[in-house]
Amino acid sequence: MQFAAEKLIPATLIAGDGIGPEIVEATLMVLDALRAPFAWEMHKAGMSAMEAFGDPLPESTLDSIRRTRLALKGPLTTPAGGGYRSSTVRLREEFNLYANVRPARTLVPGGRYEGVDLVLVRENLEGYYVGFEHYIPIGDDPHAVAIGSGVNTRAGCRRIAEFAFDYALSNGRKKVTIVHKANILKALSGLFLETAREVAKRYEDRLQVDERIVDACAMQLVLDPRQFDVIVTTNLFGDILSDEIAGLVGGLGMAPGANIGVDATIFEAVHGSAPDIAGKGVANPLGLLLAATMMLDHIDRSELAHQLRKAIDQALNEDKVRTGDLGGTASTKEFAQAIVGRLKQ
Ligand code: NAD
Repeated sequence: MQFAAEKLIPATLIAGDGIGPEIVEATLMVLDALRAPFAWEMHKAGMSAMEAFGDPLPESTLDSIRRTRLALKGPLTTPAGGGYRSSTVRLREEFNLYANVRPARTLVPGGRYEGVDLVLVRENLEGYYVGFEHYIPIGDDPHAVAIGSGVNTRAGCRRIAEFAFDYALSNGRKKVTIVHKANILKALSGLFLETAREVAKRYEDRLQVDERIVDACAMQLVLDPRQFDVIVTTNLFGDILSDEIAGLVGGLGMAPGANIGVDATIFEAVHGSAPDIAGKGVANPLGLLLAATMMLDHIDRSELAHQLRKAIDQALNEDKVRTGDLGGTASTKEFAQAIVGRLKQ
């Protein structure tokens, strides 16, 4: 017993808000069946931490991630407008999680598109998400004018471009598309384009390089997603396009993401806490499960990741067990049980 315990890898687990605890429970059930080698440290963040400790990002949660440098997190609720700043964004800043990797692959044939297999690499710390915003009051209207500034640095642009090109090479990808809006945001997006082009020159002998303006890219993704392979872009555009690519393969319920950085790596589903379906036991746990497969790849246990991807495919396509968002009738738990059933065969 002691020998097995020594081989476990400490990792922080944040159940999160809304559907978070439901999809985390389903994911843990599957990871247990897979005998995934994680020793979980359970911590809170978001609204549930706010309610329990009066702090949406408690020091105990941060300390755990500082120790483990590895986390799996459920979605965290952020009040719109006023209230506290997004704990997800703060976690990215705290641990320098500069690269957000969001893959989208067709898992259920017969949808709008077949054979989609693309990866979006999003800069995670700069751009419009730095939160440099304020209002200017006029007369009796305190919100008469809103001003927001974006910040891109050459170092940040270079780092994300290099990450995307290296990721493409090490994952057998063929093409990287640089997505920008440098025709209008000449400095902010222009610096990103200029720097990404410089980086691209070093990879041109090994990878195809392509460029798109973000609005055209959004349209072309809908027309023919298979023309894209790896997309690299800035924070806001990446946030929007990654939801779009999730929609191409069946919706937010099946989109995973990795936040990769200098000080830690945090895996999560792309979707939020889905308050409209929270507590009903119907959420699709696939986003978080696929994030767990990325986490297994990250700790060099790709054979387990492969086993899990195969069991997911069998549950979806041979057993035809699917949650409501995919047109099925299975509950979160029933879907997880179908995957566990396949893992045990
Ligand atoms: P959302 O992603 O929570 O939900 C959008 C729609 O997709 C809803 O109709 C929801 O029911 C559906 N959906 C999402 N995940 C699903 C799943 N696993 N299975 C089935 N359907 C699913 O987006 P929202 O409603 O805009 O945001 C809700 C809250 O989540 C907000 O407080 C927001 O700030 C937060 N949020 C957190 C993260 C994160 O923690 N990474 C990401 C996005 C949004």
